[in-house]
Amino acid sequence: MIEIKQQADLKNYHTFGVPAIAEYLAEVHSIEDIREAIDYARSNNLKLNVFGGGSNVLFKTNPKGLTVVNKITGVEVVRETEKEVELSVGAGEIWHDFVLYCLDHKYYGIENLSLIPGTVGAAPMQNIGAYGVEIKEVFKHLDAVHRETKELERFNNEECQFGYRTSVFKTTQRDKYIIARVNFVLSKVPELNISYGAISQTLNEMGISSPTPEDVSKAVIHIRSSKLPDPSKIGNAGSFFKNPSIPNEAYEKLKMQFPNMPGYSQPDETVKVPAGWLIEQCGWKGKKVGNTGAHKNQALVLVNYGNAKGQEIFDLSEQILKSVRDKFGINLEREVNII
Ligand SMILES: Cc1cc2nc3c(=O)[nH]c(=O)nc-3n(C[C@H](O)[C@H](O)[C@H](O)COP(=O)(O)OP(=O)(O)OC[C@H]3O[C@@H](n4cnc5c(N)ncnc54)[C@H](O)[C@@H]3O)c2cc1C
Repeated sequence: MIEIKQQADLKNYHTFGVPAIAEYLAEVHSIEDIREAIDYARSNNLKLNVFGGGSNVLFKTNPKGLTVVNKITGVEVVRETEKEVELSVGAGEIWHDFVLYCLDHKYYGIENLSLIPGTVGAAPMQNIGAYGVEIKEVFKHLDAVHRETKELERFNNEECQFGYRTSVFKTTQRDKYIIARVNFVLSKVPELNISYGAISQTLNEMGISSPTPEDVSKAVIHIRSSKLPDPSKIGNAGSFFKNPSIPNEAYEKLKMQFPNMPGYSQPDETVKVPAGWLIEQCGWKGKKVGNTGAHKNQALVLVNYGNAKGQEIFDLSEQILKSVRDKFGINLEREVNII
């Protein structure tokens, strides 16, 4: 039996720290609970919202209807060979705890994704990624309850249509499923990926010349903790915007006007431009606007200095979108889900 709370404060259910009250709230611990929540919403004519750790959402308003928080736990080994292991993981497991569990058991492949907040079930939603690794590289399949039929359906890697911070669950299948379990295939043989960002430099500074995956995880944790604001101290949801990809010719034109503009060529004849750089060039880095602002170390992260309302943060994001459009002619897209 699920417990339904009314007028539930969402303070401990999301990382932006803005005031938000759920009309109804239920934590689900099993697939049966998910089905019960769907029935409850249907019989009371309520909209259904689903969250994990609330680390990629901004509550602009109070969520109407029934807010379901996924708390399905458990990690099971379903297959194991000498070289790899397949794990089935409850969608409500905390992502970083799962990374640490894997390192403890010497299962490798997600050490670069250490310290990303949120749950395992939300990870495929936007194909979480950091330091040169995305979860699509270790993802096998997921099981999700269809919100209409209540059937459990399986999506393999291809069916999820993973892309840069996106999947089918953010596009054609948006709001249609509740993810219950995710299966990953991890390697028992370490294969390090330390070429990206400051990982190898940090390992050097740590005096490590032959790193293990555990060392890579520690380096990533060190970099992230020194660069990104801790949501338990300063409310935020990580990168607020995605890095835009623009056509090669458009990039070449902009580069003549802004010779320092960084860009990374993509296989589809576009160039990915760091959104943080664009925002910084518009003067937002470290700038405070009322109770909000763009973080001093990373302009891509919008923060709540304590008493911000969701609408204020949203308004700031609108101003940033406009200034980037005016200066560079580039339309940024929000990564954070606006509620
Ligand atoms: C400090 C900080 C740093 C971050 N760094 C990164 C980073 O490096 N890389 C990165 O990719 N992301 C990053 N993020 C964003 C965030 O951590 C990820 O998007 C994470 O996967 C969100 O998990 P969550 O459980 O908190 O999802 P929520 O915020 O609860 O939900 C996010 C979306 O997924 C949906 N959803 C959640 N669970 C389910 C489910 N079980 N079934 C169906 N839909 C569901 C929600 O409806 C919502 O649309 C960062 C966030 C913060 C605060």
